[in-house]
Amino acid sequence: MDLTTTRNWLPAYCHTGNFLPTVQETIILMAKRPYFFPDFVGRAIAWLQTAEVRQLGFTYEPATTLPCKWKCSDESLFGVDLALYAFTGHYPFDKGKIGGQFNEAAVGAAVHHCPVNVDFGGSHVGYIPGPDGGTFGYVQRPLNNEELSTDCGAVMAIMAPFKKVYDDACRSILLNKPEERVLVSVPNEFLQPSWSGERVKLLVDIEHLTAGLVPYDENVAYTHKLAGRSLFYASERFLESISTDSVAKFSTPEKRRVADDLTAQFFHIFDSDPELEGGDLKHRFLPYMKYILSSRHAPYPIKAAVTRANIEHNAITDCVRAESYRPYSFACFTGVFIDMFDPSTKCYVNLFQPVGASLKIAGRTREYEFSAAENHERFDAVAPAESVLPLSNVLACSNADRLVESFTFQPKSASRPSVGQSRRW
Ligand SMILES: [Zn+2]
Repeated sequence: MDLTTTRNWLPAYCHTGNFLPTVQETIILMAKRPYFFPDFVGRAIAWLQTAEVRQLGFTYEPATTLPCKWKCSDESLFGVDLALYAFTGHYPFDKGKIGGQFNEAAVGAAVHHCPVNVDFGGSHVGYIPGPDGGTFGYVQRPLNNEELSTDCGAVMAIMAPFKKVYDDACRSILLNKPEERVLVSVPNEFLQPSWSGERVKLLVDIEHLTAGLVPYDENVAYTHKLAGRSLFYASERFLESISTDSVAKFSTPEKRRVADDLTAQFFHIFDSDPELEGGDLKHRFLPYMKYILSSRHAPYPIKAAVTRANIEHNAITDCVRAESYRPYSFACFTGVFIDMFDPSTKCYVNLFQPVGASLKIAGRTREYEFSAAENHERFDAVAPAESVLPLSNVLACSNADRLVESFTFQPKSASRPSVGQSRRW
């Protein structure tokens, strides 16, 4: 076994030399409370009618604008369709696919129906209010005796085998300090992919995590080989990346689990047989999986939703720049839908955290882009437009102030790292 690198085993999509476009930090995006989705729609429509937008060349006329949605087909998002209907009087054209992917193939038909499209879309994630910021990735299902289920079910199902393998590595990679150096004991399945029977493989990055094999010495018991494991010195890089508390924890003769100190720079995780579409990954967030699973700012389901919304926003803004769409106008509002269960009405309610917005004006191919921070400023500054139909006629819950208040999640700050603690993505 070559014990100088594990990187040769990685599939092309995980090569360490690849540039991976950055996605927004959850800590920045979630610093502001999300909107009740209908409130956001009212503000977005009001903003489209401001002088600022008119000066950019975009004209919003309710009678000649097609509202569009792209989101998962999950019934928890039905309120999104209803809100768009209430604010525009038109049923939204569907540009979405299950799992919250943008369906590029639908755009041609949409512009054929109407030359001005206003797109609202994104990924979604369930949220249950509670202590310590609540729980992401699950929602109570009103049509199933209010039982909890995964949400987004499709995304949580894709991530489940990755989460299982990552958790297993966090439990079974052990560190201790029998003499003067910290050692790391790694099960061989995390060093060579064929030693693991799982389709999803996790490999530690031995260049980053370790500083050479511990040589065998028959007189030193801790160097004796343990079946199924390899023993390394822990690298300085790793010890500098962890908190002083973790350094103390690993500085005893007793073996301790690496736990959540296994952060993205110290491992790779990949599907050894990923689904492909036209030669590309079907699920384009797979290269981000190690960042999603080991994020210390935010639970992995919200991190995944933010990552996917970023990737899809890129897809929609790229799509509408095509020469064939030059004659058409698009206003795109992308975000993360946060699904909650409202106990008082026993219905779903959707909050919305905007990720990005863009305007593409007819006759041009490049769009104006607006960041998440700018979006909150913009949309907070305008009074929401009146809905065409009274919201209370359409939605079971037309005022979600109480639910918005119960959204207490705040990402953990890394702006003041303690001594020896690195900033983590
Ligand atoms: Zn879904």
